Parts: sequence; structure tokens; C-alpha cells
Amino acid sequence: MKNLKINNRFTAELPADPELTNEIRQVKNTLFSYVNPTKPANPKLIHASEEVADLVGISKEEIQSEEFLNAFSGKDILPDTQPYAMCYAGHQFGNWAGQLGDGRAINLTEVEHNNQFYTLQLKGAGKTPYSRTADGLAVLRSSIREYLCAEAMYYLGVPTTRSLSLILSGDQVLRDILYNGNPAYEKGAVVCRVAPSFIRFGSFEMLTARNELKNLKEFVEFTIKHYFPEITGEPKEQYLQFFKKVADTTREMILHWQRVGFVHGVMNTDNMSIHGITIDYGPYGWLENYDPNWTPNTTDSQNRRYRFGNQPQIAQWNLYQLANALYPLINEAEPLEKILESFIVDFKEDYKNMFLSKLGIFTSSNTDDKIIQGIEEILQLSETDMTIYFRNLSQIKKDDSVEQAFNKIEYAFYLPEEIKGEILDSWQKWLSVYLKRLSSEELSDEERAVKMNLVNPKYVLRNYMAQLAIDEADKGNYDLVDELFQLLKNPYDEQPESEKWFAKRPDWARSKVGCSMLSCSS
Ligand code: AMP
Ligand code: MG
Repeated sequence: MKNLKINNRFTAELPADPELTNEIRQVKNTLFSYVNPTKPANPKLIHASEEVADLVGISKEEIQSEEFLNAFSGKDILPDTQPYAMCYAGHQFGNWAGQLGDGRAINLTEVEHNNQFYTLQLKGAGKTPYSRTADGLAVLRSSIREYLCAEAMYYLGVPTTRSLSLILSGDQVLRDILYNGNPAYEKGAVVCRVAPSFIRFGSFEMLTARNELKNLKEFVEFTIKHYFPEITGEPKEQYLQFFKKVADTTREMILHWQRVGFVHGVMNTDNMSIHGITIDYGPYGWLENYDPNWTPNTTDSQNRRYRFGNQPQIAQWNLYQLANALYPLINEAEPLEKILESFIVDFKEDYKNMFLSKLGIFTSSNTDDKIIQGIEEILQLSETDMTIYFRNLSQIKKDDSVEQAFNKIEYAFYLPEEIKGEILDSWQKWLSVYLKRLSSEELSDEERAVKMNLVNPKYVLRNYMAQLAIDEADKGNYDLVDELFQLLKNPYDEQPESEKWFAKRPDWARSKVGCSMLSCSS
């Protein structure tokens, strides 16, 4: 791969773990350990993104090469690189979990292309010193979910890691999907994902928890220098600006999640990127019927800590942990607290504008809050598909009667027989307020629809769609992986030939494992 320009700043500038044995252990006074991927038995390329390859300096032809297959399956090590696993800690489900680290992620290298830096990381390429009790591997099903979803998110305009490649390892991996004592072998796979860096909130938390304050200072300065070069000024001022920047980008990311109906499922601080990008696609899911209390993660089904409607508050809680981690460098709580407080205030304001844009309301009025609150409540009276509802809303015309407007959104109801009596009344009332509100909009119906369709996707990676692709892939057929990959590149466009994917969750998927509920088993 002749244009792959290796420029590894992370390992070149930060102190390495002197221990080179690949044994599970506590690793102190460093941010990473050198470790090579485990060689896969029989790697086979399932899919690769030409766009992401191009981004990092790999050509279309090179994707098909033996060299590509071997490098991104972990079989060979790229020349002039020394792969490494990162050491970090984190809060999981609200509790301090101590050292975690890359248990099954191995960073191959940092590359430079068109003046941008990217870290290339394999997920599922074998054990590292941070694998704790697990095997360091990943199964095909979870790898397809990560591979497809990251790219779908990118094309939806949601900040995210990217997916370069999806490769079958040829190894068998033992997993107990339901955690009920029925382990079975599944196909193993390796995904190569790409991000500016894989530094997490938990990277800083670890150093502070261990009172490694000299390392903390060096690491924060390294991070700012390379990944936030726009930050300048006195050291303390820089650390605060850094925190503010992480808070701002995290806020924007969560706003996008709420806009498209994405539920991350495991917002632990080790899964929060300092770049404000979505990272670690595990038991995530997409809202089908609009339900702020929904989470796909069965591990969290009791407390629903990471439910859809709680994501902004959790992001703030996680930022609070990052603030605590940075505190020893700043020694002043007030400016950090101010940033944390403004997080929710700013989020509320942004959320309102985002929601109004989904409704096609682009001029403000004092009834805005009421309209938003009203629809959030009504959407929950009877199961209503979020994506279909918002998409079809753009078909409503200013001159429509309430009945005509109702007919346009009716397709979004999962249980049409429930839409009568009080529920029907509520819908009619809201639609009549909405129509009145639309009449004071300056844009024409057509202009408004165009703008709405840019924020209300037509196609998202519904939980059952990913599962269908997985079921086919398990049988060795990857056509659906490619079909969904292509479909989701243009999520806001009408794609008449793919209309079948603009459909409510089918009944069979309501309670099928992998569709509406997922465990962390991956
Ligand atoms: P997650 O919930 O996927 O973010 O994982 C939490 C921690 O467990 C991270 O440190 C992961 O690297 C680690 N982990 C998850 N699955 C595995 C696995 N199969 N092998 C080794 N480590 C794992
Ligand atoms: Mg993780």
C-alpha cells in the first residue's frame, strides 16, 4: 500500500509499557502496551469501504490485495509499525471499574494522509494485556453490526468512528449470547475501524485515579498539541478549553443521536471519545416506536440507565467524571462546573431547535415548547414509528384538512386499531395546532419538505435489518451486508427501488434476540 504514510505520534511520544509479554496484568505508569494481533486461521475479506480506504491513502485496487487482507486481519504487521493496546479505565453503569483497556482492540498505527491523521484499529484480533477474563475476539454478528452502523451514522451526519474493513477470521469463537449457560461456537471476524484517535474519557480517569499526575499532565498536553492544535494560551487555560471542546462536541453528538433515534446502549466512560464521536458499537439500537424509556441493552434492562431519553444526562454525568480527572491540573472547580452546567442549558436550546426543524418549523413563536411537548407525549400513546412519522410529516401541506394530514402519517402506527377515542382526539388536536402553525411559516410546502427531509432520514439501520444481514452472512451470503451498506450511504434520499426498507419493524422482530434486545455478548 504505497500511499499509506506511517506517522505514529502516540507511541513515538508517550512512554511505553516496558513489559512485552502478552499477559493479563495491571499496567502502571504508561498509556499503552505493545502487542501483536493473533494470526487468524483463514482470513477472508467480506467487505471494505472504498471511501474510508481513500481517506487514509489506500486505493480501490489495493483493497483487493493480499497485503490488505493480511494487514487488516492481523495476519501480517505493516512495515515500520508496532501495534499496541491502550490502557484506560472507566465508570461502567455508574460504578468505578478500575483498569479496563483495549481488551480486544489493537491499534495498528497512526497514518497521515492529506494533512489529516487517522488511527487504524483492529477489533477482535486477539488477546492483549487488558483482556481480563475474555478471549480478545469478536463474532461475525457483532462485527457486522459495528461495521455497518458506523458507516450508516457517518452518512446520517452523526460524528462517529469509521469502518475500513470487515474480515472473516476463519476461527470459531465461543459465546453464550443470552448468558443462560448455552454457549455455542460462532464465526469470528475482525473489523478495522478508523478515528482521529481512540483516546477516551477513561484514559484520563485512569491516570488521576492512580495519582500519576505527571503522566496526566504530559498526556493532556500531548492530546491538545496533536488533536486540538487550535487550543493555545496559558496551560491552565488550555486544559479548560480542552474540556470545553470535549463538552461541546459531545453535546453535538448526543443531539444527533436524539435526532435520528440512536440508542448507544453502553455509555460507560470508557466508551466516550474525547473527539465527540460515537465509538464502540455494542448492544446499540434504533428507536422503532418512539419510546424515550427504551434501551436495547438487556444488561441494563432493570435500571435503564442508558435509555434513549437519558442520553443527554448521562453524557453530562460522564463529562463530570472527565472534569474530575482533569481537576488536579486545574485546581479550581468553578470553571469546570460552569462548563458542566451550561452543557444541559445549551443542550435544551439546541434540542428545541433540532426538534422544530424535524417538524418543519423554521420561524420561532411562543408556542414552540408546547408543540414539542405535545408531540413527544402523543407519540407514546400508541406505538408510533419514529422514522416513518417524521419522514411522512413533510408530506403535509399548509392547506390540508386535519383528516388529510392524519392520512399522511397513519402509516407510522404499529397498532392502527388503537387509534380511536381519546388517542385519536389527541392526534386530531395536535394536528390542528400544527397545521395552524404551518400556515405562518414563510417557506412553501415544497421548500419546507426539502429542508425537513435533510434532518429526517428515510432509511436507518433498523435493528431487524442488521439481523437479516447477519442471518444471511452466517450462511456465507454477504449480499445483504452490501445492499444495506449501499442503501445507507444516502439515508435522506428517496430510493424507490429500496422502498421495502422504509417499513415498520415486522412482527417477527418484536421480541427476537438481536432485533429488539441485545446482550453485551459480542
Ligand atoms: P465494552 O462494553 O465492549 O466497551 O467492553 C468493556 C471492556 O471489556 C473493554 O475494556 C473491552 O476491551 C473489554 N472486552 C469486551 N469484550 C471483550 C473480549 N471478547 N475480549 C477481551 N476483552 C473484551
Ligand atoms: Mg468499549
